Amino acid sequence: SIEIAGVSKRFGDFVALDNVSVSIPSGRLTALLGPSGGGKSTLLRIIAGLERSDSGRVEIEGIDATDLPPQKRNVGFVFQHYAAFKHMSVRRNVAFGLQIRKRPKDEIAGRVDELLKLVHLEQFGDRLPAQLSGGQRQRMALARALAVQPTVLLLDEPFGALDAKVRKELRDWLRRLHDEVHVTTVFVTHDQEEALEVADEIVVINEGRIEQIGSPDDLYDRPANDFVMRFLGPVT
Ligand code: ATP
Ligand code: MG
Repeated sequence: SIEIAGVSKRFGDFVALDNVSVSIPSGRLTALLGPSGGGKSTLLRIIAGLERSDSGRVEIEGIDATDLPPQKRNVGFVFQHYAAFKHMSVRRNVAFGLQIRKRPKDEIAGRVDELLKLVHLEQFGDRLPAQLSGGQRQRMALARALAVQPTVLLLDEPFGALDAKVRKELRDWLRRLHDEVHVTTVFVTHDQEEALEVADEIVVINEGRIEQIGSPDDLYDRPANDFVMRFLGPVT
């Protein structure tokens, strides 16, 4: 699991995270859901080690990660606007993390084949990122994040920039991928419908505080407070 205990983060006088404690279960697909500015990305970046909290503790699968740099946390991450190496083929982009870890060439080739198959890009290995559609590029980003076999996969609105139809396809596809791979995944979204449809668990965060944690059914049937009720309410 990912154990977050008493994590606070200020930017100047502004409190972005206010004493956040939450336990994110292993092997599940967990949505971090809340309105813009609520602290989702900040919390995800603290889990990834890209940002330091002012206080509190972060434990990842039993290891105290509070003071570990990102590359020692064994996390993979994908952001909304994914930065691929433009001059490298899809294959080389996916292989990159394995190359810098100096894995043997034939092991890398085999693993990249597997990953491209997993994200249904086996036909596209020799293309450049610019020659892919937006949805295909985000799938490449996922393959790249999974390449190093992370214990935790962190996704910050990875499909946010895509049109509604592609977004829905990728969301269903992420669900199926997760059912195959079972890596502990935290998925940021401000879209309640997306969280309710895709996630095993939902963590609702607003103004730097956790409002509720539960399954989609729990949240929908038994919202903890007015905020959650309004936020999950019917889309108008
Ligand atoms: P969105 O859905 O818009 O991405 P979010 O929930 O991801 O929102 P965060 O990016 O975590 O929100 O930001 C939380 C709050 O902290 C916001 O009010 C934001 O302006 C502030 N904040 C985040 N990063 C910084 C920074 N580097 N400096 C100052 N303020 C920041
Ligand atoms: Mg954000």
